[in-house]
Amino acid sequence: MQVYGLVGNPVGHSLSPPMHEAAYGETGLDARYVTFEPARDDIAAAVDGADALGVSGLNVTIPFKQDVLELVDPDPLAERIGAVNTIDFGAETPAGYNTDAAGVTRSFDRHGVDLGGAAAVVVGAGGAGRAAAFALADAGASVHVANRTAESAVELAAAVPGATGGGLDTLDRIREANVLVNATSVGMESPEETPVSAEFLHGGLAVLDAVYTPLETRLLREAAATGATTIDGAWMLLLQGVEAFELWTGRDAPVEAMNAALRSHLGEH
Ligand code: NAP
Repeated sequence: MQVYGLVGNPVGHSLSPPMHEAAYGETGLDARYVTFEPARDDIAAAVDGADALGVSGLNVTIPFKQDVLELVDPDPLAERIGAVNTIDFGAETPAGYNTDAAGVTRSFDRHGVDLGGAAAVVVGAGGAGRAAAFALADAGASVHVANRTAESAVELAAAVPGATGGGLDTLDRIREANVLVNATSVGMESPEETPVSAEFLHGGLAVLDAVYTPLETRLLREAAATGATTIDGAWMLLLQGVEAFELWTGRDAPVEAMNAALRSHLGEH
């Protein structure tokens, strides 16, 4: 039996176990997916221990995504993003990846949105914002990052090819954009909040909200009202998991089974 898992703190409400276990059930893979919650100072010991115990792969979440970068051999994208959310113990040195980036691009792809030549605005410059900005630029979009703390957006934009950055006063760039990503936590657990004023939204946009609780955020509701294409945060969560499954197993992931398990558990939250 192979063991995969998630390391983070806290991990109690994670949706990754049912999503990955559904994939094992569907593909007949003899594997389990478990959660680990080490103390903040114990992450290096936890990664070493998992390797020594023969764990096949780990997802990594808050607060360890940056710490793990130093503990594994990161691929160039994870290194540029500055965070690892997936470890593959198959190689001699554990390899680190950032599948949040693929979660973003695969979400647009799945909804028929061509990112090549697109004008994209990413709101947020934290972990999700960094992954989105690099992923969209690598897919051929021109990227503008807008963040509450303008300096973080400017700093991120300087590292992303062709990108620009600024404060939330630059959100009017959305009027000329065709792709919008909310990579802030605004709207999470608070359905009345939105990171983007409705006046900037229009029917030519495809909008991905990284927030997945609730699934229908105020941003997505207001975007849908303009005729925009809307993509909820469960797609990004699903497709980062799909990417991790494929990295670990070398097989195509059973996307529909994983999606059904994820959405059924999200319904219970
Ligand atoms: P993070 O690193 O802590 O970054 C938080 C971001 O939100 C920062 O840009 C921060 O701006 C901004 N922000 C927070 N409160 C704000 C407010 N009141 N007004 C404006 N901006 C505000 O968090 P993260 O890991 O990037 O996660 C961000 C969101 O994405 C969370 O809701 C998370 O659940 C979601 N997420 C979803 C997926 C998925 O698969 N769907 C994956 C990763 C993350 P400052 O820099 O100014 O503080």
